[in-house]
Amino acid sequence: MKSYPLACLPERVEIYEVGPRDGLQNEPTRIDVDTKVEFISRLGDAGLRTIEVTSFVSPRLIPQLGDADELLSRLPHIDGMRYAVLVPNETGLDRLLSTGALSTGALSTGVLSTGATDIAIFASASETFSQRNLNKTISESLAMFQPVVDRALAGGISVRGYISMCFGDPWEGTVQIEQAVDVALQLLEMGCNKISLGDTIGVATPGHVSRLIASLRDKGVQTAQMAVHFHDTYGQALSNTLVALSTGVVTVDSSAGGLGGCPYAKSATGNLATEDLIWMLNGLGVETGVDISSLVATSCWMAKKLGRTSPSRVVQALSADC
Ligand code: MG
Repeated sequence: MKSYPLACLPERVEIYEVGPRDGLQNEPTRIDVDTKVEFISRLGDAGLRTIEVTSFVSPRLIPQLGDADELLSRLPHIDGMRYAVLVPNETGLDRLLSTGALSTGALSTGVLSTGATDIAIFASASETFSQRNLNKTISESLAMFQPVVDRALAGGISVRGYISMCFGDPWEGTVQIEQAVDVALQLLEMGCNKISLGDTIGVATPGHVSRLIASLRDKGVQTAQMAVHFHDTYGQALSNTLVALSTGVVTVDSSAGGLGGCPYAKSATGNLATEDLIWMLNGLGVETGVDISSLVATSCWMAKKLGRTSPSRVVQALSADC
């Protein structure tokens, strides 16, 4: 593909692949651990270098990820790979630590070995979602996360803070920018090295994205400390991504094949598909290090395991039988 660069975009974007965790946890079909290991290995072969592989949430709540312990012990060794896992609370952290599959000291040495290098915690910008998802107020949830963050940092593990419902939620409607900024500042203060601005139900539009990022910058947050996590419910994910990149954000969350949705969103289309993102970035001449053909083949393979077609436009366009 010939590229036509635009001014004000980064030379390279870091894709934070969420398919194995955010994708599969929202798929009704249960995928076995052998297939997950192969999936992660194939994502690595395609060139992805940051993958959120699973969550140490209670298997009772999310049975799709009930094999987190075994999966962690079987992660493929891939040069330069960073593996992240979602940790909802101290019980989850204890489970993660008991697997022994950690690359501690990764931050200081830059030498990675097989195992998790990063954890992620999951906060909300909306009180109602916090109550429904975590059964806690926002401030109670942040108090719950503090010891998780402290213990992770003490062990050389870096922590990403997700903020869900940054733009709107199904109960409160539009979420005020100040609310999202307030939670972001608290997560950074707590020790998170990056915050992921989540549009969990896909209602963000480009101007809203631009204003939220500007408000964060006004409070001293650097774009290097931000990631964006868009959902394509209303077809806005790529427009929103482009605006975020033009402000200096360089980390974008996406899901191979568009895996996963959100149980609270109004359409089957959920996470921004990694292939759709890469197609746009290839056209803009922005490097990602990912081979799109290899990724499309992987997403087709996974779609067959799930018994459905991929919602990604690019996967559909580039593969005859998917
Ligand atoms: Mg998501």
